[in-house]
Amino acid sequence: MIKVAVLGATGMVGQKFIQLLENHPWFEITALMASEKRVGKPYGKEVDWIVSENIPENVREMEMLPMDPKYLDADIVFSALPSDVAREVEPKFAEAGFVVASNASAYRMEEDVPLIIPEVNPDHLGLIEVQKKKRGWDGFIVTNPNCTTIILVLTLKPLMDLGLKEIKVATMQALSGAGYPGVPSLAITDNIIPFIKGEEEKVETEPLKLLGKFNGEKIEFADIKISASCHRVPVIDGHTEAVFAKFDRKVEIEEVIDAFNSLKSIEGLPTSPEKVIIVREEENRPQPRLDRDAGKGMSVVVGRIRKDGEDGVKYIAMGHNTIRGAAGASILNAELMVKEKLI
Ligand code: NAP
Repeated sequence: MIKVAVLGATGMVGQKFIQLLENHPWFEITALMASEKRVGKPYGKEVDWIVSENIPENVREMEMLPMDPKYLDADIVFSALPSDVAREVEPKFAEAGFVVASNASAYRMEEDVPLIIPEVNPDHLGLIEVQKKKRGWDGFIVTNPNCTTIILVLTLKPLMDLGLKEIKVATMQALSGAGYPGVPSLAITDNIIPFIKGEEEKVETEPLKLLGKFNGEKIEFADIKISASCHRVPVIDGHTEAVFAKFDRKVEIEEVIDAFNSLKSIEGLPTSPEKVIIVREEENRPQPRLDRDAGKGMSVVVGRIRKDGEDGVKYIAMGHNTIRGAAGASILNAELMVKEKLI
């Protein structure tokens, strides 16, 4: 088994890591870390456990460690830290020789840091060598995108071959995306909040890197335009996105459906879903409550694909933000790195 640690283990994404890693065939949790006040205490007593099912037995009594590489017996460090903390902490682990698979935004857009979705841009892992050489680290940092970005980009990747040139997206984002305890209940109950700090900037820039080309040294960003409007809605899990896509030619619904169905999952990875994009034909799908667990939370569900002028289509995409959008994404990236013998 490959030993793994979780940084930020008490948070929303940290708890999802622990749940998804419980019976993982390749990875075994050997260390948990969160803020300093937890050090030396058993995880089960410190965490305010809010995901379904009980705290796994393998971590309940595990003593929480200080956030310092010298205490760590692990090969991979999964990071679910707030971005400002990640900026300080993640390089220390990479420098000390650990593979850091991060959910935080701190290093996503750095030129020498891979931002990866296995089904979209696995070749960008080539940046690992560039990073190690440039920074002189024994380990390295690999990141996964923002939760809204991942769901969107999985649907954009197959559209690139049809001549995608511009998209507009309006999002309806779940509460769990704001971490725990997150948005106050009195602010969100019976309400929609039309602002999520920093989100639109991430959704408008990260896809350009993900859909870009690795030239052996850096990523040449994709030449498409993106405009996003992001909103918090009273849904617990599952981000829903209304996407309006324009192409450099006339497109038909059937070729868009064929393109979505053609996106292949990566064989041999335990967290890969059988089907990456599931196209629903019902006029009232996808819905977060009904569709977020598709493919154990790793599939993106698409529906309501309609023409939008001669050269456009519009559709709804939905995915589980803490699984495909966060912990599951990091785990899939780590599995890909194991398959590629980078770990
Ligand atoms: P969260 O619920 O607020 O959890 C934050 C975690 O970081 C907790 O374990 C917390 O530990 C720990 N932490 C906070 N300050 C710390 C410090 N100074 N030193 C050490 N540990 C500290 O946040 P989250 O939603 O899980 O998000 C974690 C990261 O993933 C963020 O960067 C977020 O942007 C990203 N992300 C989240 C989602 C999502 O859907 N939620 C999706 C994609 C990416 P204590 O309990 O001890 O305070």
